[in-house]
Amino acid sequence: MNRTADALPALLERGWISVGGPGLIRCTGPFVALCSYFDAAFAALAWRRGAQFHAYPGVVSRQLLERLEYFSSFPGVATDAGECYVLPPAVCYQTYEHLADRELVHHPYRVTVAGRCSRFEGSRLTGSPECLWNFTMRELIFFGSDAEVAGERKALMRSVTGLLRKVGMTGTLAPATDPFFLGESRGKLLLQKLKELKLELRTEIRVGVDMAIASFNHHEDFFTRRMNIRLAGGGRAHSGCAAFGIERWSFAFVCQNGLDIETWPEPVRRFVARHEAC
Ligand code: AMP
Ligand code: ZN
Repeated sequence: MNRTADALPALLERGWISVGGPGLIRCTGPFVALCSYFDAAFAALAWRRGAQFHAYPGVVSRQLLERLEYFSSFPGVATDAGECYVLPPAVCYQTYEHLADRELVHHPYRVTVAGRCSRFEGSRLTGSPECLWNFTMRELIFFGSDAEVAGERKALMRSVTGLLRKVGMTGTLAPATDPFFLGESRGKLLLQKLKELKLELRTEIRVGVDMAIASFNHHEDFFTRRMNIRLAGGGRAHSGCAAFGIERWSFAFVCQNGLDIETWPEPVRRFVARHEAC
């Protein structure tokens, strides 16, 4: 049964979340437990696929993002952190920096990392987890030949749609666009959509309103070329990533499953009960 309803008023009333400003929420109680559940589920998926676990600083150099053409793709979105740094708008950029100038002997080569991300989206920022200035993202980033990256992305999409069902949610995969690795021209965006280089998992949060909770991206050789990441033996390295917005997953979960923990799907209920007992 899918009983999607806007859960925001009830979440605020119970105090599971409170608003600190436009796009800034504080979370507590079962909402935090849900965030931990989803992060652990994606980390477990990464573990099963043999990913290396990374951890990065909470700031990223401007120089790196300039090299990756971030600022021309997303003007005005990054949040400054001093003169030479910004808060990370996604966690995968530091993976390319980490692997720069390397030749990957074993591939597909997989990395996972989680961290806080900041994106200043102006008037879209309200007091809802739908669009946050500062949020938590877990990513799986993978490297290999074109076919390996495509295969990895497909396997991840299959696993994540399985997770969605397991937690009593519904969603659909739909092609999307990003100005970020193909430039902003209309033709290039169209090409990105046609080639389905970015697929979003969208789920309903109110009747008739949906939201992206994950994206599955094939970057071709955009990042690997700029960061000189190669495959041993001379093959051209491609990369891809799967990105999950943790607060959005938790919010969509309560929109579709309600706030009565006793009625939540068993694996989530058990995890939250253990978390709350700690
Ligand atoms: P993207 O890199 O834009 O594909 O974003 C990856 C994922 O991060 C999305 O699918 C969302 O789950 C999450 N996300 C992106 N932007 C926001 C935001 N402003 N607030 C909360 N979550 C976000
Ligand atoms: Zn990414």
